[in-house]
Amino acid sequence: MSFLSIATPFVELGIPVFPLTPKTKIPLSGFHFLEEATIDPAKVASWNDENPDYNVALLANGEFCFLEFDVAKGMSAAAAEMEHEIPLTRTQVSGKGFGHYIFRHTERSRALGNRSVNLPDGGEWFSFRADNKYLVGAGSLHPNGNYYQNARDIEPIPMPGWLCDFVEKHSTPANPKECDNAVEVSEDFDFDDMMDFYGIGIVGEKDDVWQVVEECPGVGYRHSGSTLTAFYWDGRSLGWSCFAQECPLHGKSIGQVIAFLNAQKGEPYKGVIWEKRDDELLDSKWDIESLDDDEPHAVAPEDAVRGIGEGREVDQCNGNRRRVRKPRGTPPCGCGPEIRKQSRLFDTKESKQNGPVRSLPN
Ligand SMILES: [Zn+2]
Repeated sequence: MSFLSIATPFVELGIPVFPLTPKTKIPLSGFHFLEEATIDPAKVASWNDENPDYNVALLANGEFCFLEFDVAKGMSAAAAEMEHEIPLTRTQVSGKGFGHYIFRHTERSRALGNRSVNLPDGGEWFSFRADNKYLVGAGSLHPNGNYYQNARDIEPIPMPGWLCDFVEKHSTPANPKECDNAVEVSEDFDFDDMMDFYGIGIVGEKDDVWQVVEECPGVGYRHSGSTLTAFYWDGRSLGWSCFAQECPLHGKSIGQVIAFLNAQKGEPYKGVIWEKRDDELLDSKWDIESLDDDEPHAVAPEDAVRGIGEGREVDQCNGNRRRVRKPRGTPPCGCGPEIRKQSRLFDTKESKQNGPVRSLPN
């Protein structure tokens, strides 16, 4: 098969492709695949003209992600463990005979980010490629002389929530000490006092910075199998994470969570949380504009749990809602992850330093 004939079905699905050195999983020398990967048929054809023996790489981006097992019957075991059926999505078999699964991203799968998990004996178990990582496309030639093959030549489906649970259960984020939505608080902020006020029990600490809650305040009980429903608190910044997709507080910013807690409690927390937040938000260095300053104070629960990452932040000081335009880099508000993810799409430094090596399948 030529580069063009291998690449075309993926391009038609909307999955960006780029060439790999023939019979390898390695990008061409000096090739910046994060910038070059494309669904443009003309560009794909030009690569084919250059060398029809190129292998084809598929790039995980905002729309597609890949779950790659490096063990036999990896998906069968995952499905059995999670008590679900094997998902019927576009599936490939690697040169070594292992299953590679292509999914459409969901909000949940995007939040997982790239993950890679080893077996107790050290070999790789699976890797989840969510962002700027690549998968070798079916039809390409493995270095061992076998072809990557299509096992199910069908449309990718959205990644099932239970499979996201599986990935999350067995892996940790690239940097577990990082919280995408943590916001710096006042020096006078008292974490324990705030937890007491809302009646939230903390059962333990994970990675020094995650205060694991006894019951998730979003649902009033502990999500089964969860150690990842927690406040982020490093002594300076406060954040939030609930892994459970069905939870009303899943994916919410710390501001939204506090608004939710206030609504649930029927009164706002009286202690200090943010320092001079008005001044900070209006500081031109954050490129922020505030709107609706004269709105009424009460925030209904519906408001608290609506509109993730839409740039709406609840100001704890006075309950006003503001529209916040987020700067790149370190946002002062709780709505960072999308922005950071997007900027990473174009981070070629990462790709040059460790993208190709870390992305190699098998
Ligand atoms: Zn929850």
